[in-house]
Amino acid sequence: MNKTYDVMVVGGGHAGCEAAAAAARMGARTALVTQRLATIGEMSCNPAIGGIGKGHLVREIDALDGLMGRCADAAGIQFRLLNRAKGPAVHGPRVQADRALYRAAMQEAIRNSAGLVVIEGEVEDIEIEASRVQALRLKSGERFVTGSVIISTGTFLRGMIHIGNEQTAAGRVGDLPALGLALTLERHGFQLGRLKTGTPPRLDGRTINWDALERQAGDIEPEPLSFLTERITGRQVDCHITHTNQRTHAIIQENLHRSAVYSGSIAGRGPRYCPSIEDKIVRFAEKSAHQIFLEPEGLNDPTIYPNGISTSLPRWVQQSLISSIHGLEKAEIIRPGYAIEYDYIDPRELKATLETKKIKGLYLAGQINGTTGYEEAAAQGMVAGLNAANSREIIFDRSEAYVGVMVDDLVTRGVTEPYRMFTSRAEFRLSLRADNADQRLTARGIGLGCVGDLRRNQFLNKSAKLNEAMALVKGLSLTPSQAQRHGIALNQDGVRRSAFDLLAYPDVTWAELASVWPELQSVGEKVAGQIQIDAKYAVYLDRQAADLTAHRRDETLEVPNGLDFMALTGLSNEIRGRLQVVQPRTLGQASRIEGITPAAMTLLASKVRKQQAH
Ligand code: FAD
Repeated sequence: MNKTYDVMVVGGGHAGCEAAAAAARMGARTALVTQRLATIGEMSCNPAIGGIGKGHLVREIDALDGLMGRCADAAGIQFRLLNRAKGPAVHGPRVQADRALYRAAMQEAIRNSAGLVVIEGEVEDIEIEASRVQALRLKSGERFVTGSVIISTGTFLRGMIHIGNEQTAAGRVGDLPALGLALTLERHGFQLGRLKTGTPPRLDGRTINWDALERQAGDIEPEPLSFLTERITGRQVDCHITHTNQRTHAIIQENLHRSAVYSGSIAGRGPRYCPSIEDKIVRFAEKSAHQIFLEPEGLNDPTIYPNGISTSLPRWVQQSLISSIHGLEKAEIIRPGYAIEYDYIDPRELKATLETKKIKGLYLAGQINGTTGYEEAAAQGMVAGLNAANSREIIFDRSEAYVGVMVDDLVTRGVTEPYRMFTSRAEFRLSLRADNADQRLTARGIGLGCVGDLRRNQFLNKSAKLNEAMALVKGLSLTPSQAQRHGIALNQDGVRRSAFDLLAYPDVTWAELASVWPELQSVGEKVAGQIQIDAKYAVYLDRQAADLTAHRRDETLEVPNGLDFMALTGLSNEIRGRLQVVQPRTLGQASRIEGITPAAMTLLASKVRKQQAH
C-alpha cells in the first residue's frame, strides 16, 4: 500500500532538518527522507555555526522556533561575538561546535518533532503529472504519495570530489552522489549549472606543537545563539592561530598545475569569500602570510580543522605545505582536503516561497539553490517548510528579515558564484539586528502557527517586560541643568530629554541613569541591554523611515499575475527576457532585477496602475 504524507523533505542536512521541522510545526504530516540517518545534522565542512550575517540568519530561524540555534548552543565549545568593536547591527554571534554533539542535538530535535517521520533511503525520482508533484520514489522501489516535496540535497547532485588529479563521484567524502534526482530535474526542464566548494585537510591535534602557537580564547561571557537558552554550561576550549609563510607559498606556486582547481578539471565557480589557499596565493600574491585558525572539531576528538587553507592539491603536496607552517612541522593529516563540484539550479526558477514556478508542490532549499553555508541553507529550509505546509504563501520581506533579503536576492538576481550572507546585503540592516530577531519575527511566527508553547510564553513574557521598561524610560525625563547636577553633561538648550533619549548618548550608561532614577534598577540586564541598543539606533531609524516607506509602497504594487513580459512593446529583447525569467511579483522586485532600465519600470508601473484601476 502507498504511504501518504503532506510534505516530504529530501535530505537530512541543514536545509532539510529545518524544512522538515518547520512543516511539522505547522501541523503537516511530514517525512524526512535521507540517505543515512547517522549523518542527519552533519557539518560537511567547518565545525562552526553563525558569524557575521550568518548569526543573524540563525537568530531569525530561532525566532520562528527553528532548531539550529538551540542545537548550536547545546554543542558549543567556543562562543565569540564577532565584530564586537562595531555597532550592534553588525555584531555576529558565532559558535564553534563539537561536531558529534551538534549531530546528536539535531538528531534528537528531529526525533522529538511531533508529526515528523524519518525514513532512511535514497530518493531516486519524483513523479510529476500535469505540472504537479504526485509521488516520490526511492531507489529501493518504495513509493510515497505526496503533494509537496522539498529537495535539499546540498552538494550531492552529481557531486564530484577532486584531490589533485584524483576524481571520485561523491556527495561529500564518504557519501554517494545523487544522480537520479539530477536527471529528474533535467527532464522537467530546470536550468542546472555547476558550482564548487572546498575543504581543508584535517589534522591530528596530538601532533601539533601547541606551545609555539598564539592562543585564541572565546568570550568570557558566552552569548547563546538561541533566545531560549538562558546560559551556556558546556565546557569551553581555546582555538589557536598560525600563518602560512613564504615557503608555504613557494610549495603551492610550484605545484599549482597539480591543483584540481588550476589544472582545468573543475569548471564550476567557487565561493569568492571563502577561497582555497591556491586562490589566495594567486589572487593576493603581494601577501607574505595568510592567517590559519586551528579549530578543535570536538571535546573528545583530536581532529583539528585548519580554517583558511581549503585545497585540492594532491595529498603529498598537502602534507608538504602543512609541514612548512609554524607549529605544524610534525602535524599529521588525518584526512586530505578536497574540492567538490556539484549541480545547482538557477534560483530564478523559484518563487519567493521557494516553490518552483514550473511545478506545483516542488520546493528547493539550501545549497542546491546556489548558496553556500549551513545557515543560508537552514534559513531557506525553514521558508520552504513553512510554505509547503501552508495553503497561503508565506513571504519574508527584505525590510523584515535577512531571510527575506537572501530569498529575494536569489530569486530576483540569481547567482554566478556561491551566495553567502553579509550584513552589507541588507539595506535595512540597522533594524535587522541579531539582537532583535525575536522582536521582529516571533509574533509573526505565533500567528502562522509555527511557534511552540515554550517559546511563545517566553516571548510574551519578555515582550511584556520590554514594553513596561520602554514606557518607563520614555516617561522619565530631566532638563539639562538637572542632568548637570547628576554629572551628565548636556547641551544647555533647556530641552527636556527622556531617559530613552539620554541612552542614545555614547557616554550615558543604564547604571548612571539608575542612580538618577532608582526605579530603573529593577529592570533586568537583558531587557536593559535591548533598550540601550534601541535607543542608540532610534535616531538612525527615524532617518531610515522614508526609505522604508518607499520600499514598502513598491512591494505592495503587484505586477498583474500572468503578465506576458515577452509581449511588452517598447523594450529590448534582453530586458523582456530578464523580466520573463524572474517574473517579478511586485514593482519593487522588478526594480532589483539586474540591468532593468527606467523605461521598463515606467512601463510596468503603468500596467500596475491599470490593474489597480480595475
Ligand atoms: P547538506 O548539508 O549537504 O545535506 C544534504 C543532505 O541530502 C544529506 O543529508 C544527504 O545525505 C542528503 N541527500 C542527498 N541526496 C539525497 C537523495 N537522493 N535522497 C535522500 N537524501 C539525499 N560552506 C561554507 O559556508 N563554507 C565552506 O567553506 C564550505 N565548504 C564546504 C566544503 C565541502 C567539501 C562541502 C561538501 C561543503 C562545504 N560547504 C561550505 C557547504 C556546506 O556544507 C553547505 O552549505 C551546507 O551543508 C548545505 O546544506 P544543505 O542542507 O543544503 O545540504
